[in-house]
Amino acid sequence: MIELPASPDAFRDATWDDVHPYYEQLATVALDNADVALVESWLTIWSRLDTLVGEAGTLAMIAYTANTADSAAEQAYLRFSMDVFPKMEEQQVRLARRLVESAPSRADLATTVRRFRRDIEIFREANVERFAQIEELSAAYQKITGGMSVDWDGSAKTIPQLQPYLKSADRNERERAFRLGASAYLAQRTEFADLFDRMYALRTAVAHEAGFADYQQYCFSAKHRFDYTPEDVAGFHHAVKTTVTPAVARLMAHRQAALDIDAVRPWDVTVDLGTTEPLMPFADVATFVDRAERIFTRVDAELGQQFRIMKDEGLLDLESRPGKAPGGYCTDLSFRGRPFIFMNAVGVPDDVQTLVHEAGHCFHDFATHALPFTWQRRTGHEAAELASMSMELLAMPYLVTPDGYYSPEQARVAWLEHLEDVLASLIHIASVDAFQAWIYTHPDGADRDARDAKWLDIRAEFEQGVDWTGLEDQRISRWYRQLHIFELPFYYIEYGIAQLGALQVFRNAVRDPAEAVANYKRFLALGGTRSLPDLYAAAGVQLVFDAETMAELVAFVEERIEALRAGAAAPFAGVMPA
Ligand SMILES: [Zn+2]
Repeated sequence: MIELPASPDAFRDATWDDVHPYYEQLATVALDNADVALVESWLTIWSRLDTLVGEAGTLAMIAYTANTADSAAEQAYLRFSMDVFPKMEEQQVRLARRLVESAPSRADLATTVRRFRRDIEIFREANVERFAQIEELSAAYQKITGGMSVDWDGSAKTIPQLQPYLKSADRNERERAFRLGASAYLAQRTEFADLFDRMYALRTAVAHEAGFADYQQYCFSAKHRFDYTPEDVAGFHHAVKTTVTPAVARLMAHRQAALDIDAVRPWDVTVDLGTTEPLMPFADVATFVDRAERIFTRVDAELGQQFRIMKDEGLLDLESRPGKAPGGYCTDLSFRGRPFIFMNAVGVPDDVQTLVHEAGHCFHDFATHALPFTWQRRTGHEAAELASMSMELLAMPYLVTPDGYYSPEQARVAWLEHLEDVLASLIHIASVDAFQAWIYTHPDGADRDARDAKWLDIRAEFEQGVDWTGLEDQRISRWYRQLHIFELPFYYIEYGIAQLGALQVFRNAVRDPAEAVANYKRFLALGGTRSLPDLYAAAGVQLVFDAETMAELVAFVEERIEALRAGAAAPFAGVMPA
């Protein structure tokens, strides 16, 4: 039908003019009254073309983020991200229309067709320009936040570089780091509010153009949230408030006693308890990788094998180096069927957490490569993060020596930190989501002062046990710092949904680790070929929005925390048969 290049190398230097003819052929080949075999071979070619061009672009991104000083790599990356991919996106909508019209009867394409149908339904030509304007405003937000730095004892530091000081045993140093970080955002408050006002107006116009009452309704549709509603999510907020908020208040009370202070202030919430020595899980990347392989092998031999493939094939770029882009990601080399991890490891516990998390995404990629079409491999964030967050919990018991990074005493500190963080993050997730729901459904959402006041109200409801007296402005600055609110609206509750799924995987693993891992792998292999509730069911868990189930899971986590505080030698101890 259409002759494609044999490898992504053919598109390495491609501009849109080189790629376009293939999509043009796919868009114009005769499919009317075509038989099933013809439609399927058309789909196979389209899918293969997506992976060929996609992998070429991914390789360009990897090369650029590995060395941002390489201007040729930067040019190649920009060519794909600014030119090839946006235009490819347009062609996808065009081809999706043909796919939907030809209505293939394959059951394993039902979820793909449903997603395409939705994209077509809400697409409006008039919104294309609005999205471009929102992109520009997002870039302006990135520019302001990316350029922020503060003076720390005479040396310039970025805001993330203040993080270690927030864990300092010296309380004054923690307070100084906290105030300094907040001050950088407060200094730009007017600029942020101006940007947000313009984003708000554009997003509301997008929703109205597409026939929705408000932008929240639009987002639920655009994000393919077929299986839960704004009402379900409001129930989630309520459930967090009634079950997680009191649990975190108990953690804070424990913290107050352990630190022997009058009140827990915002700069007291991240310092590790029970140790004055910061954890140093590894000294070099070879050890980092070697231990990770052993940990994943303990979770499951096949997963360990997959991680070894990544090591052997050079699919791990982990160490921090000058010139590397900040942050970390897992990406997919979709043509060759291999994932890739990029991060900036410096030897801290967060690096372990990041690697285990990203590896969960990689195992998802490995498991789905056998599916015939690329769109079947894609899931929403609710399922993608279930894969990664479950792995964080499944790997926990093995973080200890001889396989893992920590002595038994250090492991206990790391486990406690992780479990406490699970609860604390649910509060943050729910408040960020509740805030956005209010912004886009309430007329006062357009008013900058009303937004700040509402954030304070919401935060006070969700976050208890921390004394913010006299720190109202610093508390307000927290939402200006949440890039999702500016750049990726309503993309946040997925982490909460996935975390509650992951906690159920963890609870199942405490009862029967082999079965929990088997279910987890069955879930991974389905990719996006089932509805969200079915994917969760395959993993042996359910979607949780209600207070009753959430309360059970919170109690389970608190039990584990209690056991660890009482000296338990493993996060599963006390429940798992010896
Ligand atoms: Zn993730």
